[in-house]
Amino acid sequence: MEYMDFKKKDDREVLQLERFPLEKGELPVLHYPLLDACGMVKHCFTTRGGGASKGMFESLNLSFTRGDDEADVQENYARVASFFGTDKTQFVCSDQTHTTNVRRVGKEDAGYGVTRPRPYKDVDGLVTDEPGIILSTFYADCVPLFFVDPVHRAIGLSHSGWRGTVGRMGAVTLSVMQREFHTRPEDVLAAVGPSICQDCYEVSEDVADAFYKEFQGHEREILLEKGNGKYQLDLWKTNEIILREAGVIPEHLAVTNICTCCNSRLLFSHRASHGKRGNLGAFMQIHV
Ligand SMILES: [Zn+2]
Repeated sequence: MEYMDFKKKDDREVLQLERFPLEKGELPVLHYPLLDACGMVKHCFTTRGGGASKGMFESLNLSFTRGDDEADVQENYARVASFFGTDKTQFVCSDQTHTTNVRRVGKEDAGYGVTRPRPYKDVDGLVTDEPGIILSTFYADCVPLFFVDPVHRAIGLSHSGWRGTVGRMGAVTLSVMQREFHTRPEDVLAAVGPSICQDCYEVSEDVADAFYKEFQGHEREILLEKGNGKYQLDLWKTNEIILREAGVIPEHLAVTNICTCCNSRLLFSHRASHGKRGNLGAFMQIHV
C-alpha cells in the first residue's frame, strides 16, 4: 500500500491519518483529534495497510477465524501493540455477535482474545478505567463507537452494526459507564468510527421497519426509500441521534466521513468484498 488517499463524504478534518513507523515499513492508522485533545487516551482505527497477511487478508487482518494464517495475524497484533508502546499481552478483545452486551474489563483480562482464550462470549462492548490495557473491537462496515470520560478517567468501545444500532448500543454503553464509573454523558467525548455510508448501505424492508419503529420522528434523516422494498440506511446519522438523545453534547461528538465500502482498497468492507475480507480493529487505551 503505497499511499493512503481516502475518499471522504465531506471536507471535514474529523479523522486524521498517522503513519506510525515500524521496524520495517509503517503502520497507517486513523485517529480522532477530538479524542486526542483530552490527553487521556491513545486510540486508533486500523486500515488494510502495514500488516503481514496476504491475498484477500492483505495486509493488516485482525481476525483469527476467517481463514488467515495465525502467525500472520499474531504478527499484525504485535505491530498494533507497538503503536501503543506495549506488547500483545495488553489487548482485551470483544466477542462480537451483534448483541448489546457490554463488559467491564480490568488488568485481570489482559491478553484475552490474542495471547489467551477469552472466558466470555457475546460481548459487543467493553469499558474500563484501568490504564494500560487496550480495548479491542473489530469491523468491516459495522460502526465503531468510542467513548472517553475525562472526569472519571474511564473509556468505552462498542460495536454497533444495524442490530446494535436499533438496540441503541451507544446509549447502553453510556449507561454501563454511568453505573460502573459514575460517568455523566455531558462530560463524554464520543466518536462514530469509519463504517459503511448511507449511499453504500442498502437494506431490506424488515430492517427498515425496525428503524422506523425505534426512531420515530427521525425517519427522513436516516432512511431513504428506493422502492421495490429497498432502502438506504444511514447508520452514522442514527448513531449520532442515539448519542445526542443519551446526552452527549454536539461539540463532544465526532462523526466519521470515511466509508469502509467507498474505500475498500484501503479498508476491509464486507459489502464491497462479498464477505471475502479480513477485520479492521478499533483500539483504545488509557495512558499509563
Ligand atoms: Zn460508502
